[in-house]
Amino acid sequence: MKGFAMLKLGEVGWIEKEKPTAGPMDAIVRPLALSPCTSDVHTVWESAASEKRNIIMGHEAVGEVVEVGSLVKDFKPGDKVIVPAITPDWGAVASQMGYSQHSNGMLGGMKFSTSKDGVFGEFFHVNEADGNMAILPDNVSIEEAVMLTDMVPTGFHGADNAEVSYGETIAVIGIGPVGLMAVAGSNLRGAARIFAVGSRPVCVEAAKKYGATDIVNYKDGDISDQIKEAMKGRGVDKVIIAGGGVETFEQAVKIIRPAGIISNVNYFSSGDCIKIPRVAWGLGMSHIRIIGGLMPGGRKNMEYLSNLLKYKKLDVTPLLTHRYKGFEHIEEALLLMKNKTRDLIKPVVTI
Ligand code: NAD
Ligand code: ZN
Repeated sequence: MKGFAMLKLGEVGWIEKEKPTAGPMDAIVRPLALSPCTSDVHTVWESAASEKRNIIMGHEAVGEVVEVGSLVKDFKPGDKVIVPAITPDWGAVASQMGYSQHSNGMLGGMKFSTSKDGVFGEFFHVNEADGNMAILPDNVSIEEAVMLTDMVPTGFHGADNAEVSYGETIAVIGIGPVGLMAVAGSNLRGAARIFAVGSRPVCVEAAKKYGATDIVNYKDGDISDQIKEAMKGRGVDKVIIAGGGVETFEQAVKIIRPAGIISNVNYFSSGDCIKIPRVAWGLGMSHIRIIGGLMPGGRKNMEYLSNLLKYKKLDVTPLLTHRYKGFEHIEEALLLMKNKTRDLIKPVVTI
């Protein structure tokens, strides 16, 4: 079969691979809608530490089941399914501890295009199909559903880890698709005031739709100065980092209140260390909590998030700025994600 692959660091292209086969608990799926991720860009063009060779890329897919293993109970060929980017091993000790993202070691739940081929192939493999796929609801389109595989759960994970609660003031640094979903997730959890830190008009407009009350342009000067001024010197309750480089972390420490939470979902693809400014950190005694997390995958998460689309509590269509038809457009969509045109939030390719 054909697949679009990372050939080596900094190089992508089409390759031929054997069609995957299903073990007893697995499924083979044919993609119907795909989207490239900023993480694919980090992995191919930035992260020398995680170089992969000749591995099919991609981890955001909605598809049709073509084959299931003998022990799969709830899915059959022909079913349309949402497949999360993270497909854990549900029997692992880490999963039993509530951190299925790290089943099989740090970030081990992230299998697509790390420990096996990803979803940008004519077919792809899903481990533990009953635990890692969800049926596509009738009234949800494949383009919308593909946003549930990574963008929605990652942004919401940022808001969940920040323990956003009603009446709070939140700052979201970076408002690409993940940050926008962090704004939407914070809004759904009851945040009152939401600072969205970004610059591109298309993202700023979407942030307002998702509940941002204040826009801060990081190109207009230090965001900690801008937010502190707007807050009359007080810190915000929570900060969610969803874009930028390691410098955003320092800014987060400067704008958080004592005992606030900094929740990172950004993939820091360069820089050896992340700095914590000593004074802003209360000389080490601020009770500020720091958490960074990989999105949770699995079936339950996909089913519950798709309910938000099914019952119209969340609209992901503002994210879908670029639509392509045909598998061959994957390359164009990925390069668009790399080059980030001013009108881009997220591309989707339907097949
Ligand atoms: P994106 O690149 O589309 O959005 C990030 C935005 O931040 C961009 O618009 C960029 O211009 C902006 N930005 C750059 N510097 C900034 C700064 N200093 N302050 C504020 N904004 C700044 O990326 P995305 O698709 O929204 O993903 C966001 C991050 O989340 C990426 O690093 C991605 O790899 C990562 N990610 C993590 C997970 C996870 O499970 N934790 C899952 C998916 C993606
Ligand atoms: Zn991703």
